[in-house]
Amino acid sequence: MADPSFYMRYPGFRNKALTLSYDDGITPDLYLADILNRYGLKCTFNVNAGYFGHPMTRVPGRRLYAEELTTLMAGGHEIAAHGYKHKWLSSLPSPQALYEVLCDRRRLESVTGAPVTGLAYAMGDYDERVISLLRKAGFAYARTVVSTRAFRTPTEPLAWHPTCHHADARLMELAESFVNNTKDNDRPLLFYLWGHSYEFVERDNWDVIERFADHMAGREELWYVTNGAFISYMNAYRSLRLSADGGTVYNPSAQDVYFFYHGDNRIAPAGKQIKL
Ligand SMILES: [Zn+2]
Repeated sequence: MADPSFYMRYPGFRNKALTLSYDDGITPDLYLADILNRYGLKCTFNVNAGYFGHPMTRVPGRRLYAEELTTLMAGGHEIAAHGYKHKWLSSLPSPQALYEVLCDRRRLESVTGAPVTGLAYAMGDYDERVISLLRKAGFAYARTVVSTRAFRTPTEPLAWHPTCHHADARLMELAESFVNNTKDNDRPLLFYLWGHSYEFVERDNWDVIERFADHMAGREELWYVTNGAFISYMNAYRSLRLSADGGTVYNPSAQDVYFFYHGDNRIAPAGKQIKL
């Protein structure tokens, strides 16, 4: 009997993806973006629009100005929300929590010119009520600070747990085990790294991200992707409609979806129905 498994594949039939997420929208982000651009890695920068241009307290530097976000975007990176003024969302009454995330979004959207539907929880703070508020407000995903040290795709994108922080003692060990994983006929893998670029300034250790990027870069089997593009693709995969007999699939989304089925790599073209 043919293998009945049905797995998502990333564009180009890749089965590994790498995404990064850096918080607070600060001047060292520009330097980080330069490094990532050199290696072709993609990052989502999570920004508090209520602090544009404000000085930083822990290290020299300041919060980015709105115009600088376009520099980050020019490298193919994404801008996402982080709360207008970096507040603990779970402690705010619902209207104030909504104001905090929507105000941030509106300011950021006026800069990006496109919907901003991602967020990283300030201080990693969220609860079930916050998730439900974000869902109602049209957010597609939100990152926590809970490291899994695993390579799983998110089951609840509004509580998206990263693989690890860049200061994790096991960072390079995890990166190696990710790259060395060769189980092709299996579920897709995701390496999700997060942090703050000011930490590299504080500890004078930019070599940490340089070494990580160098190890991950230029690999054909990896999809280098922002958080938002990842979720948009995963949602397209999840929207596939498979007939009960498994013989027909309809892709109602606007992007081609790659998958593994009955031992073969297949594509469900955008907006089309095909026989399997
Ligand atoms: Zn933060």
